[in-house]
Amino acid sequence: MSFVQLPESPISCRNLVGGEWLVPRDVPLAEVISPYTGGVIGRVPMTSEAGVAQAVEAARAAVPGWRATPLRERTTLMARFRSLLESQLDRLSHLAASEAGKTVAEARAGLLKGLEVCDFALSLQNLDAGGAMEVSRGITCEFRREPLGVVAGITPFNFPAMVPMWMIPIALTVGNCFILKPSEKVPLTACALGELLVEAGLPRGVFSVVHGGREAVEALVAHPDVRAVGFVGSSAVARRVYAEGSARGKRVLALGGAKNHLIVAPDADEALTSQAVVDSFTGCAGQRCMAASVMLAVGNVEHILERVRERASRLECGPGMGAIIDRASLTRLETAIATAEKAGARVVLDGRGKRPAGEPWAGGHWLGPTLLDGVRPDMEAAQRELFGPVLSIVRVPTLSAALEVENASPYGNAASIFTTNGAVAQAVVEGARVGMVGVNVGVPVPREPFSFGGTGESKFGHGDITGVASLGFWTDLKKVTRKWSTRTDGSWMS
Ligand code: NAD
Repeated sequence: MSFVQLPESPISCRNLVGGEWLVPRDVPLAEVISPYTGGVIGRVPMTSEAGVAQAVEAARAAVPGWRATPLRERTTLMARFRSLLESQLDRLSHLAASEAGKTVAEARAGLLKGLEVCDFALSLQNLDAGGAMEVSRGITCEFRREPLGVVAGITPFNFPAMVPMWMIPIALTVGNCFILKPSEKVPLTACALGELLVEAGLPRGVFSVVHGGREAVEALVAHPDVRAVGFVGSSAVARRVYAEGSARGKRVLALGGAKNHLIVAPDADEALTSQAVVDSFTGCAGQRCMAASVMLAVGNVEHILERVRERASRLECGPGMGAIIDRASLTRLETAIATAEKAGARVVLDGRGKRPAGEPWAGGHWLGPTLLDGVRPDMEAAQRELFGPVLSIVRVPTLSAALEVENASPYGNAASIFTTNGAVAQAVVEGARVGMVGVNVGVPVPREPFSFGGTGESKFGHGDITGVASLGFWTDLKKVTRKWSTRTDGSWMS
């Protein structure tokens, strides 16, 4: 197994503004800590409102030129970026893994998803040619997509490459100037993406990186020249970004947290189901917005539960599974497990205190797979997003009871059904109030061009962040009605 290679010495991150890499003046630097070791692997400037304004100004200056660049030429530059990204997959996978605590394989999968989004963006030159029609004699109607201008993407820690790459290729290819504000916990990969976009030949100011936290986010959301904000993170912040951006007349799509349910029917395939359930709740150490966090066990599924427990107990806590992002999150998870136990749940597999042996992992943030059985739907462990390798098992007598629990959740990211019966699967496809449904799939992420996005408190705003559904978000659709005289009054016209 290829374990993560951490940077040899701490990397100093800079903002990318108007094509230059700068450290903003008079702002504090935060440390970037590797979840694997607890050691410092970078430093990142916490940009203030003034630094954000500088980046927006540089991006605004680039708008007319980029907007006037034909789609085919923009596509050629983005194709160059795609090739550079592909050639750097190994380096970027280790970088993303070392700052986010995910495995190298998982970080690589995130980058491959980024390439998939690039492919979609590159296809727009052939697929999205606009449209025109003669609606009446001498009158045609036409629509054309137009870029918005300066747009921003604000991203979370858990996918340092993939979530920025949900937005960057599409937003840039359709002609916007894009400012990325990555999570201050994982700024290194964002810098690497910026370097590749510069190397690909993007004009100055078309792509910018502004590092920081709350102050930088608030400045971007408040800035009058930022036309649209794509946000991905926790629901509490997503809700606020959506409210504040929308109140200022901006277009905002804010993806939030999740509490994904896997419904397991008694007729489910035992091997497939147990494997998918375990992969889903332990992958990325449970820090995926698509991770299973509640298993709704319908009727008698003891044989499957036993296989889940047995498979999960064989997993080694350590760099082969991934680490928890920071110490505060680890403490929060341990407290949530203890609270569930006090409320009456049985800890049938306890990941607390598990850790890999020896250096360099001793200072890392570790939690092994944890199974809580007998969780009631009203408990915190069934309702709140925990964001770690913890699966709450809720027993329900029927499929309708399972759907009732699922649909009572304020979140609405994803749900899956495990069954060998098509009618049962269809009932969940139709009945689950979520944005993404899986049938015998533990992490039901759609491939492009099918778009990614939930509903409820997992998504504030309209449209989706990728695929066809994102085009309406990143562009304005201009409608043109033309009328020409049908007279032919010059002899030269006949
Ligand atoms: P977070 O909300 O803490 O941070 C997200 C971004 O917001 C970061 O860039 C951060 O700097 C900024 N931020 C943090 N606090 C802020 C505040 N008070 N005001 C303004 N900006 C603030 O999220 P996180 O911990 O980095 O990421 C994990 C969360 O993201 C989980 O809830 C997970 O489910 C969610 N997530 C959702 C999706 C999805 O597609 N729905 C995808 C990935 C992650």
